[in-house]
Amino acid sequence: MDRQELLRLDREHLWHPFTQMRLWPDEPPLVIARAEGNWLIDVEGKRYFDGVSSLWVTVHGHNVAAINQAVKEQVDRLDHSTLLGLAHPNAIALAAELAAMAPAGLNKVFYSEAGSTAVEIALKMAFQFWQQSGRPEKKGFVSLEGAYHGDTLGSVSVGGIDLFHQVYGPLLFPVRRLPQPHCRRCRLGLTHPGCGLACAEALETLLAAHGDEIAALIVEPRVQGADGIIVQPEGYLRRLWEIARAHDVLFIADEVATGFGRTGAMFACQLEGVTPDLMALGKGLTGGVLPLAATLATDRVYGAFLGEFDEFKTFFHGHTYTGNPITCAAALANLRLMRQTRLVENLAPKAARLAEGLARIAKLPHVVQVRHQGLMAGIELAADKAADTPYPPGLRMGHRVIMACRPKGVVIRPLGDTVVLMPPLASSLSELDHLLGAVEEAIVEVTEAGA
Ligand SMILES: *Cc1c(COP(=O)(O)O)cnc(C)c1O
Repeated sequence: MDRQELLRLDREHLWHPFTQMRLWPDEPPLVIARAEGNWLIDVEGKRYFDGVSSLWVTVHGHNVAAINQAVKEQVDRLDHSTLLGLAHPNAIALAAELAAMAPAGLNKVFYSEAGSTAVEIALKMAFQFWQQSGRPEKKGFVSLEGAYHGDTLGSVSVGGIDLFHQVYGPLLFPVRRLPQPHCRRCRLGLTHPGCGLACAEALETLLAAHGDEIAALIVEPRVQGADGIIVQPEGYLRRLWEIARAHDVLFIADEVATGFGRTGAMFACQLEGVTPDLMALGKGLTGGVLPLAATLATDRVYGAFLGEFDEFKTFFHGHTYTGNPITCAAALANLRLMRQTRLVENLAPKAARLAEGLARIAKLPHVVQVRHQGLMAGIELAADKAADTPYPPGLRMGHRVIMACRPKGVVIRPLGDTVVLMPPLASSLSELDHLLGAVEEAIVEVTEAGA
């Protein structure tokens, strides 16, 4: 099929995620046919640097021989077999490996296919844990303003991005919120570090009053990704964890975005010595090759589900494709390659290069803030930098910038007027320069063309 025919059928039949489909025909999409390393190649043969790691998943680049080989061999050996009543070697080996690399204590692994379901499972486990631990009144959840935990109804309930979540309000369970740890926009009107991390201490106040009713706190460790790469002040995460522990409230780390090296450590929790009770993983787990997610739990959590058959303490949850052997093969090959190339250990010079480029971009007249951690970055645009006045949303400035990057050979995505950079961990320094150069030029072009 040629490009025109593909675009016709796309308009006719394909409903794209997070997309206003009425506007879709106005800006025909790139149709990606192939990939090489960190580059996407469209049906016309044009090459684009994959500046958001194909939505935050790509680790070693695309079409990596070692992962592809593992997938091909597994397809020929065993395509699928259920984990309900049976086991297979890949699911076992990967569970052991994840348990070994995770923060201490996370010893049990439960598979699913998406970050949303990994979170959903963590929420259900936390809830059921207390039901079966003699504290059935501990039913509530605490999450952060501006949180994103996925798109299923449970994960939407703990989410805190009104634009995405508000319409579903009547379907959601109530959740208590902590003020977003976003210093420039401090909800408490305070200034870091003089504030003494008052946004974390808000958890102490909440749990002192209501801790007996709370099952768990869920948090994206160190960086709230989908709200625009909101980087938490240092010590915030650890303080939340200490307070939750003191009140015997389970700590759920949603490492779907931050896991597997993204923040500079294998898991963001490790940056602050935090050992969660439950941890959700997804995105980078297979290196960006196949959909696989995992929820890790401590022996303590797991123990509450043990009993005689007719006590019915079982975790009654499992998807048809839970722990599919091919996806597990991809994950095993991904993790092996990460070890062999010492990818995470070698990330510091790349993060530093990104930081240098971002420091230049931060000086642009319509860039109000850049935020970054490891290889995650957000560049926030504003109509008036000094007054911190946003652009009217209808101008879609973030969108215009990412579209202006396309002719420069870069694919990225905005979150509102925050331009997000999430290059593959395997990016070279010169590829990072290409990305940063294109983004800087695009921001200048779009913001100087005026609103
Ligand atoms: C992407 C993301 C999810 C959801 O993952 P899906 O695979 O899209 O369902 C959950 N939590 C965080 C922090 C994410 O970034």
